[in-house]
Amino acid sequence: MTALPDRTDRKLGLVIDLDTCVGCHACVVACKGWNDQGYGAPLSDQEPYGADPSGTFLNRVHSYEIKPATGGAQHVHFPKSCLHCEDAPCVPVCPTGASYKRAEDGIVLVNEDACIGCGLCAWACPYGARELDLAAGVMKKCTLCVDRIYNEALPEEDREPACVRTCPANARHFGDLGDPDSAVSQLVAERGGIDLMPEQGAKPVNKYLPPRPRDAWEGEADVLAPYLALVAEEPQGFLGWLDRTLGKI
Ligand code: SF4
Ligand code: SF4
Ligand code: SF4
Repeated sequence: MTALPDRTDRKLGLVIDLDTCVGCHACVVACKGWNDQGYGAPLSDQEPYGADPSGTFLNRVHSYEIKPATGGAQHVHFPKSCLHCEDAPCVPVCPTGASYKRAEDGIVLVNEDACIGCGLCAWACPYGARELDLAAGVMKKCTLCVDRIYNEALPEEDREPACVRTCPANARHFGDLGDPDSAVSQLVAERGGIDLMPEQGAKPVNKYLPPRPRDAWEGEADVLAPYLALVAEEPQGFLGWLDRTLGKI
């Protein structure tokens, strides 16, 4: 069992803009590509060219069509990876100490040499952000590209997470969310950034910028109603929708 640090010097994390994400999955590919080499065991795939392929990913994008209580219907593309929570429930449940949170920068990592693949951390994570690599038999999760951001062998402009470096829509931002003057903290303040499922008490470091409402076009309600009936039944705004959707993942 591992204790969480009382405090961390920095709170490194991601800010993801749901308004500009176009669901292209470039961040998913970049993440898989970078993390297939270097840190830990490669991310395995099962039957990648078969009828039912599956594999290990540290970042996935889920896409939804929603109809908020006001405004027009919209597509929301929702990238999801570990949120490097301040009160990470995945850490203290680990029986071997393999899961830990770094005091210097707040990054949550897995020591794969000590991981026994029991899955307790995945069970404890409220966000479904951990994946058991079936080939390696160890738990995987976003490392915040710890092997890039401090890597002096890389050009300075590449010392940021692969997903951030790759995103063509500039929807992903990296920085210190513990510093109120950092660019990411200011972005969160300006755009009303949110915690995912704050009622879980995990205090995620990563933040999401909500999508701005779209204008409805004339006749939209009639045309789209049959397709949007399920989400339209609970008109509690974007946050309510997001909360319910995450609860099903
Ligand atoms: S998102 Fe899940 S895996 Fe990541 S720190 Fe939080 S509880 Fe742990
Ligand atoms: S920070 Fe690195 S490990 Fe985490 S989702 Fe982005 S590319 Fe993947
Ligand atoms: S690369 Fe950027 S725009 Fe594309 S899915 Fe990822 S976050 Fe969204």
